[in-house]
Amino acid sequence: MYFELTEEQKAIQSLACEFARNEIQPIAMSLDLASATENFPWELVKKGSKLGFRTLTLPPRWGGIGADAITQLAIIDELAYVDASCSKIFAKNWTACRYLIAGGTEEQKERFLPLIRDNDTYLLATPGTEPGAGADKDTEYYDAPPGEGVMTTARREGNHYVVNGRKHFIAHGPTASLFIMRVRTDPSAPMSKGVSYLLIPRDTPGVSIGAIHDKLGWRAYPQSEIVLEDVVVPAANLLGGKEGYLNPEVGRGGRSIEVPAHMMAVARAALDAAIAYAGMRRQGGKIIIQHQSVAQDLADCYTLLEAGRSLLWRAAWTDTYQGVNPALTRVCRIYCAETSIKICITALQVFGGYGVMREMPIQKYLRDAITMEHGESTTRVVKLALAKLMESRFKAGTLC
Ligand SMILES: Cc1cc2nc3c(=O)[nH]c(=O)nc-3n(C[C@H](O)[C@H](O)[C@H](O)COP(=O)(O)OP(=O)(O)OC[C@H]3O[C@@H](n4cnc5c(N)ncnc54)[C@H](O)[C@@H]3O)c2cc1C
Repeated sequence: MYFELTEEQKAIQSLACEFARNEIQPIAMSLDLASATENFPWELVKKGSKLGFRTLTLPPRWGGIGADAITQLAIIDELAYVDASCSKIFAKNWTACRYLIAGGTEEQKERFLPLIRDNDTYLLATPGTEPGAGADKDTEYYDAPPGEGVMTTARREGNHYVVNGRKHFIAHGPTASLFIMRVRTDPSAPMSKGVSYLLIPRDTPGVSIGAIHDKLGWRAYPQSEIVLEDVVVPAANLLGGKEGYLNPEVGRGGRSIEVPAHMMAVARAALDAAIAYAGMRRQGGKIIIQHQSVAQDLADCYTLLEAGRSLLWRAAWTDTYQGVNPALTRVCRIYCAETSIKICITALQVFGGYGVMREMPIQKYLRDAITMEHGESTTRVVKLALAKLMESRFKAGTLC
């Protein structure tokens, strides 16, 4: 395994670093403090689009650079170190593009990818979750039976589907132009067979945005409800042209490490801030990093951070050069989630009372880390999916 970046990757990494310091840093804290309905940084999206961050994974033919997982990680590592919300606004879009790139028909790619490429504010959302379908909107652990799981229905009528239902917690719900939505095309089948993906432009009659959720962290990365009332969608918008759930690995290509990459970048920012503070703050006649228990806490955190980052780079390398390794990406997701929260809590404690003051970024790192744990499935359910993979390896006689 070789983690050295190519010259092209180094160039885009330093572009991301510059963008984060010059454009994100000055607005990050005010976006976090603003209300959830007023803090979306459209100007930043336009500036980042011009640099290619919104469309990173699009193949060159459609105006992107077809970024692999290592390149995506290098960029998130820079952007999310400064602000996880602003980073995720771009990363959510470029990972959602993968559904179309990997799962769309040629006609769908020709129809939608140029729209994404040519409009600096064109964002994508991938609505799956519903009030009654959380963990069981996915099939990596559950296969929800008929009558449970995703219940937004898409009824076929001639050359159209008629969609009715309600989604919630949907990232880019209030800001996206296109929804790549999980819908029940066969209510009598379990999720794995009865759910399909429909491409639904936001301006389709019958689509409306409900409440915008006010969250603990990741505050400038918006989620909302989406309401669908007799929405008529052409059958040509059925992703991949056929009904039935996508293989969960379709469209991963970097998506698998995207949330852990955010977690580790935030943990690194929190730990750097704590080390700097502990090296400056004096109590008991010396700087607090020289008090043994503070020193040990920081050393423990650094150990966790390095282990998490090694796992993350290994997962990105594997994804890039060998294809997605479902077990490794789940290990990475679990470890990075648990570790980032631990690091952020300890870092906050090093700040004493300052740690909980709203004007200090340290408390924001912890809120962001906790919120991320819920952004794409939950750690508990990812553990169950991992155990299921281990069980199937045992049954197939392919354990290491
Ligand atoms: C910031 C953010 C962004 C999001 N973005 C999107 C998005 O873009 N698109 C989208 O579709 N959804 C999105 N979601 C929703 C997210 O995917 C769900 O919140 C998540 O899948 C969990 O569903 P739930 O909240 O309904 O919890 P539930 O599924 O109700 O789970 C509740 C608790 O029970 C536990 N649990 C569930 N099943 C089991 C089990 N079998 N064994 C043990 N424990 C279990 C869970 O771990 C959790 O602790 C987002 C959520 C957040 C917070």
